[in-house]
Amino acid sequence: MDGDLPAAGGCHGGRETLLAAAEAAGKSETMARLLADYPRGPHDQPQSMCPAFGSLRVGLRMRRVATILSGSACCVYGLTFTSHFYGARRSVGYVPFNSESLVRGQLYEDIRNAVIETAKPELYDAVVVINLCVPTASGVPLDLLPKQIDGVRVIGIDVPGFGVPTHAEAKDVLAGAMLRCARGEAEQGPVQRPRQAIDERPRVTLVGELFPADPVGVGALLAPMGLSVAPQLPAREWRDLYAALDCAVVAAVHPFYVASLREFAAAGRPVVGSGPVGVEGTALWLEAIGAAAGVSPGAIAAAKAQALPAIRAALDAYPIDARVTVSGYEGSELLVARLLIEAGAEVPYVGTALPRTTWSEPDREWLVAHGAHVQYRASLEDDMAAMRAVRPDLALGTTPLVQQAKELGIPAIYFTNMVSARPLFGAAGAAALAGIVAAQTRGRHRFAEMVDFFETVGTGDAAGSGWSGVPADRSAARERYRRSRAARPDSDKPVGV
Ligand code: SF4
Repeated sequence: MDGDLPAAGGCHGGRETLLAAAEAAGKSETMARLLADYPRGPHDQPQSMCPAFGSLRVGLRMRRVATILSGSACCVYGLTFTSHFYGARRSVGYVPFNSESLVRGQLYEDIRNAVIETAKPELYDAVVVINLCVPTASGVPLDLLPKQIDGVRVIGIDVPGFGVPTHAEAKDVLAGAMLRCARGEAEQGPVQRPRQAIDERPRVTLVGELFPADPVGVGALLAPMGLSVAPQLPAREWRDLYAALDCAVVAAVHPFYVASLREFAAAGRPVVGSGPVGVEGTALWLEAIGAAAGVSPGAIAAAKAQALPAIRAALDAYPIDARVTVSGYEGSELLVARLLIEAGAEVPYVGTALPRTTWSEPDREWLVAHGAHVQYRASLEDDMAAMRAVRPDLALGTTPLVQQAKELGIPAIYFTNMVSARPLFGAAGAAALAGIVAAQTRGRHRFAEMVDFFETVGTGDAAGSGWSGVPADRSAARERYRRSRAARPDSDKPVGV
């Protein structure tokens, strides 16, 4: 381990310093893998929550899995706060450290002891240990942990903010590591079946965190082809991983699970991108899934005949006559934009914080052919600039984008809370999304009234109500400080190093 560690800066500074420290501390291979799987782009630093939240969430949502964090206390505080905000309802393990225990290698011993203490087979199938930024940069070697203790698997992963750009991709880091382990076990001999009865028809594994009704709806779409839905990935229990692997086709409906899809490919499973959204999207997806599963053309036609009229009827019931911009970090942005366009919307801009992959290519091509600009690795600044340029009737986006939209009097809804919290696929998805967008755009005059109402309270440094006079403008001092920092020769270094 490297004692010359940058102790501050973290997600908002010093990425190159931390990366160099991690490589010097023996993590070159890990960092090269992360950079290959999750390539950088215009957006290459976290602009939302800590990326490790994705891995933490995947672990916390699984039965009989314990999750332990190794990182700075401030990072762990934020991560546990967020996980409980999202209803984790279980403890998050934490191995604290200080400069001495980090530099002398004691942290690794402390993690090892914590894992041994936690790995009780009567309680857990697996213990997950997540290295955050500082332990990764220090080279804390989780790969030296025992692979299993009394039958409890030990999964150690590095999820640094300077190597994994978004929390969505961090879900894949853990899901992929678990799938690799489960695949190795399945190759050795018989494994457990899922707790629930499993459909014996050929199965399709859906990859991505989906609204709970969506897998059920997709099952109905697949039934005329003699196919069923397998337990999805990320899994809810270790034994479900085997059933997810034991499928006829993998549907990469969230197209950024690169490490997980690599495991499916190694298991010989064909992978199909895009998803069943709208009439055209569903027709093409059913054809692709049917072809990959070796289904007859007649059965594919029967599946389309069953699904498409209901989706058409749902879209016709909620026609959208509006210009909409779409931006988010969930990975389903392109699918949402497709559905909006099929419902009648004009969508000139789609920004996603995720990178371009093979599995979203059908959606990208379709969107470009329908007049949309698709921005992968979109930054908040990209999304804001697009919204200001386009002046949409409705903006779907992240919290800061929605705040900015409201200031401009543009109706806006949160992607994560409003769009991702509804079905997306089949007729149910068409009705839900088109319904909410139609309702929001109908009320657009209210936003103009809101801007009028707040016009006198000022903005930025001069914002406020009830003061005597306008607050002094201090922006010149901020700008002077920014310039002096930018002029420092070591300005890439984290503050305090
Ligand atoms: S682990 Fe890294 S990215 Fe996450 S909050 Fe801490 S410093 Fe930021």
